[in-house]
Amino acid sequence: MSEVRCALCARPMVPGSLRYVMMWKMFADYDGIIDLEDERNFGNTMRAIKTANSADLEEQVFMESRHILCPSCREEVLESLASLEHGESAAEPDGGNGEEERNLH
Ligand SMILES: [Zn+2]
Repeated sequence: MSEVRCALCARPMVPGSLRYVMMWKMFADYDGIIDLEDERNFGNTMRAIKTANSADLEEQVFMESRHILCPSCREEVLESLASLEHGESAAEPDGGNGEEERNLH
């Protein structure tokens, strides 16, 4: 049997210990509006589609993933998600201002 490790901290999971499965899906939202009046944007979009490969295009529309987490990483993920919902920053300063990442709504 292969060793199971936490997907975030890489800590080995002791057999029988508490662990969590995190599954996520992210897919493109559509507000029902296609702006065909702006020909420049439409042209740029069509050029981007023609030059991208099919895997990249698929990732732009739909992504899903599954990870095993230890209890402490589960707590970190939940805190990070909660801070996103409230517009707070849970990330450490990394030189950028992070404004774009938090500007979800
Ligand atoms: Zn962990």
